[in-house]
Amino acid sequence: MQQEKPFVDTPIEFLKGVGPQKADALKTELGIFTIGDLLSHYPYRYEDRSKLYKIRELDESEINVQIVGTIQPLGTEGVGTAKRFKALLRDESGAIELVWFRGIQYIEKAIKPGQKYLVFGRVSEFRNTKNIAHPEIEAIEGELNLTGKGLVPVYPLTEGMRRRRLENKFMAQITQTAVTRPDFALPEILPMAMAAQLKFPTRAAAIRNLHLPTNAEDLEKAQNRLKFEELFYLQLRHLQIKNNRNREIKGVVFGNVGDLFNDFYKNHLPFQLTDAQKKVIKEIHADMRSGKQMNRLLQGDVGSGKTIVALLIMLLAADNGFQACLMAPTGILAAQHYYSLTELLTPMHIRPILLTGATTKKQRKAILENLKNGDIPFLIGTHALIEEDVEFQNLGLVVIDEQHRFGVAQRAKLWKKGNIVPHVLVMTATPIPRTLALTVYGDLEVSVIDQLPAGRKSIVTVHRHENTRPLIMQFVKEQIAKGRQIYIVFPLIEDSEKLDLKSLMTGYDRITEYLSPPDYKFSMVHGRLKPDEKDAEMVKFKNHQTDIMVATTVIEVGVNVPNATVMIIENAERFGLAQLHQLRGRVGRGGDQSYCILVTGSKLSDGARKRLKTMVRTTDGFEIAQVDLELRGPGDMDGTRQSGLLDLKLADIRKDEKWLLLARQAAINLLDKDPMLMKPEHFMVRNELNKIPHRTVWSKIS
Ligand code: ADP
Ligand code: MG
Repeated sequence: MQQEKPFVDTPIEFLKGVGPQKADALKTELGIFTIGDLLSHYPYRYEDRSKLYKIRELDESEINVQIVGTIQPLGTEGVGTAKRFKALLRDESGAIELVWFRGIQYIEKAIKPGQKYLVFGRVSEFRNTKNIAHPEIEAIEGELNLTGKGLVPVYPLTEGMRRRRLENKFMAQITQTAVTRPDFALPEILPMAMAAQLKFPTRAAAIRNLHLPTNAEDLEKAQNRLKFEELFYLQLRHLQIKNNRNREIKGVVFGNVGDLFNDFYKNHLPFQLTDAQKKVIKEIHADMRSGKQMNRLLQGDVGSGKTIVALLIMLLAADNGFQACLMAPTGILAAQHYYSLTELLTPMHIRPILLTGATTKKQRKAILENLKNGDIPFLIGTHALIEEDVEFQNLGLVVIDEQHRFGVAQRAKLWKKGNIVPHVLVMTATPIPRTLALTVYGDLEVSVIDQLPAGRKSIVTVHRHENTRPLIMQFVKEQIAKGRQIYIVFPLIEDSEKLDLKSLMTGYDRITEYLSPPDYKFSMVHGRLKPDEKDAEMVKFKNHQTDIMVATTVIEVGVNVPNATVMIIENAERFGLAQLHQLRGRVGRGGDQSYCILVTGSKLSDGARKRLKTMVRTTDGFEIAQVDLELRGPGDMDGTRQSGLLDLKLADIRKDEKWLLLARQAAINLLDKDPMLMKPEHFMVRNELNKIPHRTVWSKIS
């Protein structure tokens, strides 16, 4: 006997209303091959066809509206492609024009003057007159009856579909046909107990309601279930990656807290650690002793003191006979880490080594040799660290600073550097909201430094208009007279070092009208400089040989010059929130009151206004990260591309935190009970999980 295909695997051309041609469009345009694919093509919004508007209250907007009125044809106007047919629709509140550019002959004949019509379409404004182009219209005979006209799903479509005249109406129709077929059925993918506990409708009921909602309340229940499902499987994948890693990889055990750590901690710490720093060091150390390989994300605000944490755990590695490396996204930052670690380690007689693009060939050769024979305990560097020929003797710890600049592939290369698998600590440049961290880094443990060192003065932040430049420059002069230093930052012109330099030079010229060299000494850093030239400029500024650092955003992350007290950000509207916060974090690092001045023109978008307002209102990086996420949406955030975040069709981590946390917990509980998903009642979960392309253990490690 022939095996019957499951409903969802039915080829799309077998659905009523879809012939070979339409099937072809669905396949090539939307990747819909089966009824199952069609049902997974979710509506992105709904139109309420049970609601009627008054013509007077209509405004230009993105959504379609529904109105009732009597129609009066106005005839055709224009010639050729500009030819159009117009009619006036009137209700007791006013009148609006309806316009057709296509099918004029047909519509002209069809419209009955004086007849009552139900009209549905989008209002736009043209030369101060509102109109609706190509509305759907339907003559009303007798009483208007809106029952059965509820929420209409709106599907994502492509231009190609539209060209073939396959519009939303078609999508809604065939989807409804599918969900009302007598053989409509969908397999469950949540364990029964879980679905029951959360009081979810069945998967079949949820999918049917999503495409053919009976009412708003049931629609919401359906959406909640489907959101949960997405998040549950995403979390399950993260946790499985983590579990597999723990099972398959034996971590090196850092059992000793040895002489180096103790000596430094007792005798050479330049300040008292904050409680938060102590807490995360404990968490990290516990990982390193556990026999599992550590994969931890260290979250902390700008200036919370992540570097010293990195150094202390590097000493732990050394105490246990392992090499450690610290990787930074830019040459400047790597060099700076190198200088500050060298300084901190001077009394310890440990010499870290720096390897960047600026390292000479000869130096490089010597470094590689010493790395391999184990003579270098600490290596600090940039991408140069992950090149093929860099080999360690026994790399036991990798710290990745400000990691969002590192691509996944680059990071993955680090693991091939020796025959043991090192512990990994990833440090964020600025905080990431918890929901995003769980979604993007769900396979990592998280530590948070939620406290700044004592005695930090809050940075005074203001937003100023360009035309107050003389006043700003006056303020700069006063600060320089007090012995302080100034940053002036210009937006980076993406992908064009030439334009970048040009805009920087224009800005520089404007500044020197007020602060002329040689009375005022300038450093300048931009994308056209070679790495060693950048470093040299930075060092000059750090050593206070110059007063003012003029730069594009290359100085953004990590730079530490405690004597700098003023950060001026030009064209501040062109920067993202995370960037602004990072830049501001360059000041306020010493004992003096610091300032951040955001300079803009007067024309600002809503988004820019909100960003600037947020910056002026708060210096809390966690709060700023939340606003950033809300403004930009998760798709634009750093590092989301590899995270599976973009596979989410319904869930929005900005709004669905509740479902995210429930899904995470449900996934944890399930794997606790049944780690390999071997119980019969979890078979469907394993099955569903296997459908998702498998990632290697390393591919998304940090
Ligand atoms: P970030 O977390 O942004 O990388 P850093 O590690 O660069 O911060 O630290 C910022 C500044 O604060 C540095 O000058 C560092 O020496 C100092 N610092 C770090 N921890 C403490 C502390 N516990 N007490 C005082 N100063 C600290
Ligand atoms: Mg840092």
